[in-house]
Amino acid sequence: MSNDNADNNDPEIVVLDDGVPTAARVYDVMLDGKDNYAIDRQVAEASLAVMPELKEIALHNRAILHRVVRYLATEEGITQFLDLGSGLPTVRNTHEVAQEANPEARVVYVDIDPIVLAHGRAILQDNENTAVVTADIRKPREVLDHPEVRAMIDFDKPVCVMLCGILHHILDEEDPQAIVTALREAVPSGSFFFITNFTRLGDSPESEELERVLLSQLGTGRVRTPEELTRFFDGLELLSPGVVPLPLWRPEEIVTDATTVGVRFMTGGVARKP
Ligand code: SAM
Repeated sequence: MSNDNADNNDPEIVVLDDGVPTAARVYDVMLDGKDNYAIDRQVAEASLAVMPELKEIALHNRAILHRVVRYLATEEGITQFLDLGSGLPTVRNTHEVAQEANPEARVVYVDIDPIVLAHGRAILQDNENTAVVTADIRKPREVLDHPEVRAMIDFDKPVCVMLCGILHHILDEEDPQAIVTALREAVPSGSFFFITNFTRLGDSPESEELERVLLSQLGTGRVRTPEELTRFFDGLELLSPGVVPLPLWRPEEIVTDATTVGVRFMTGGVARKP
């Protein structure tokens, strides 16, 4: 076991560097975090060589997450958030935004990467309304039946199911649609789904090139068409403005140029279960 992360000064946290990059740590590089290895930085560099806007895109993804959680907690009265593929704790996590709006809001972070649990536990040990669970959303029943999920989330009350930046890490043959369907069936009417995904740029080659880099170096990173992404919301009522480039979902700042790759490469939306 080794930890080549010189900046990680928490002695409790030692993670395995087995020379295999992970999505959580590559994303951490994009967000200028400190919890990543050389192998993750290599994937990030290869990705940035194809699409230099990726760091900006990661920030857009975090910004929409904040807007959506704040909106649902303040305007829709949502008190439970199931954050699937939550990633490493970073600046302004879901529980901070939700509990700022409502201190009683409950948040469960779920991620396949055990490094998330290690860091999450250290940060959240004093927060009784927040839990971190290691689980694989490709087995949605295991996520839904996990004792820590059950202890925190009441599935008789509306839940916000967050699939922010995760479904592109589920390959087509792993049937992401079936995962979303299983989750949709498990939550009551009045629940919300928040989904963002890499999106194919019809008019320029970067999105296909990035998909090639990610699939070959990380093993996941499926770029989907807007139609494929919209299908994830089947059976749900999309909130305005629908499935749109992330900065255009209820922006708090004027987007001066909506034509750039940085604005358009990730799209997403929010929908209510009727
Ligand atoms: N949701 C955060 C956000 O949008 O800022 C982090 C997104 S990060 C790009 C994707 C996360 O999904 C990674 O932390 C990765 O470990 C996690 N992930 C990938 N496949 C997963 C799976 N099958 N089950 C659970 N988590 C998964």
